[in-house]
Amino acid sequence: MKHFPIFLAVEGRRIVLSGGGDAAMAKLRLLMKTQAHLTVIAPQIADDIRKWAAQGKLRIIERAMEPGDALCAALFYAANEDDAEDARVAAIAHAEGALVNIVDNLADSQFITPAIVDRDPVTVAIGTEGAAPVLARAIKADLEARLPTSLGVLARIGKTFRHAVDVLPMGRKRRDFWSEFYFNHGPKAFEDKGETGVLPALETLLDAHITAKQSEGHVDFVGAGPGDPELLTLKARNALDKADVVIHDRLVTGEILELARREAIIIDAGKEGFGASMSQAAIDALIVQHALDGHHVVRLKAGDPTVFGRLDEEIEAVTAHDIPYRIIPGITAASAAVAGIGQSLTKRNRNSAVRLITGHDTKGYADHDWKALAQPGEVAAIYMGKKSARFIQGRLLMHGADPATPVTIIENVSRADQQIIATTLAQLEPTLTRADLKGPAITFYGLAPRDAQARAETLQEFA
Ligand code: SAH
Repeated sequence: MKHFPIFLAVEGRRIVLSGGGDAAMAKLRLLMKTQAHLTVIAPQIADDIRKWAAQGKLRIIERAMEPGDALCAALFYAANEDDAEDARVAAIAHAEGALVNIVDNLADSQFITPAIVDRDPVTVAIGTEGAAPVLARAIKADLEARLPTSLGVLARIGKTFRHAVDVLPMGRKRRDFWSEFYFNHGPKAFEDKGETGVLPALETLLDAHITAKQSEGHVDFVGAGPGDPELLTLKARNALDKADVVIHDRLVTGEILELARREAIIIDAGKEGFGASMSQAAIDALIVQHALDGHHVVRLKAGDPTVFGRLDEEIEAVTAHDIPYRIIPGITAASAAVAGIGQSLTKRNRNSAVRLITGHDTKGYADHDWKALAQPGEVAAIYMGKKSARFIQGRLLMHGADPATPVTIIENVSRADQQIIATTLAQLEPTLTRADLKGPAITFYGLAPRDAQARAETLQEFA
């Protein structure tokens, strides 16, 4: 980020603009929304600008800019549409201590003016550091359509009501009140009765919230999917939006945590101190403690919480304290990975069942029905299978599996650094050792990437 966005207090301060044509007018239209004192300096001044001056919105000085003109100015705009003149006036303003913007000259400007969605006092500023003005315009159009026009009025009236809402306890209760006001009761009252209907609606709503019984905490066990934030469900997003506390796994990506409500407390349950895992009992206690404090706890697990997620232990801990909970499913690594190699988990005339197996369990390397898996056409998605690759390979070969059975390892599924490695059962262990994967990886036994499979089939035809 080369430009840090801030909202500058300009009420009663000077903003000086040099230029009197179209570029100047475009900037002035924005600047006139502020309570700053505007001065326009230029030898030629367009009629519209004169009209604004006549209406008392700005002051004009009809000559070229001179030293002294930008004294005490907070901001200065060079908008002469003439590079040499812009450079000259910018140097003057700079020497006089103003922050300088040269229209259409990012490199020599000290600040830039964002695209604005104006629901005063709610203002959304959009900037792309000059990289993609088209994108900024599209985002602005999208927000303009989405934010109710009454939002500004509601925010203004809401502000006068803030003290009254102090009777509600800080945190979720207050937040619930405001979100109901801004997105439900407020717009409705405004629509029905106009501005005068808003304050009574606030009072009625506050009464209802004061008399409502103390809300209790609850826990959402949420699937975060394999890493790509677009693979989150809408329910998961909504839960993250409302969470007071997010307790997440080691495998949940930063990009997804970014989506959590800004005030939410984020706890990494995958690490403690210098990287050792938090014990399951400690995680259970953490979830319970926050829920008993009346918080909305999101227990965020990679993939789907019901797949190798130790979900049941956590549910038992929560129900032991009569804490209500929901399970919000996510896309498990196997689903995302199989999509990544263009295959199906099940396929008519190939496999009518698929196994999700783990490479190791609490007792060490996990045992499975190797004999059944060794049959031709069987498919298994192996989670946590890196360390146990040699063991799995040995068991399957011992039970008669074809050494040429395709095996595909997918690391960092759905992320920018996803890696697909196609091999065979015979080569599984050496391939994995050579690849030395650092990220999470899932192994498909019995599936090759669609392209590789197509190539192999063609080769067989020629054989
Ligand atoms: N609940 C998770 C699985 C947790 S077990 C799910 O439904 O996906 C952890 C194992 O899941 C990892 O060892 C790895 O085998 C697999 N896994 C999870 N996320 C992955 C990812 N993004 N890419 C590859 N494998 C992943």
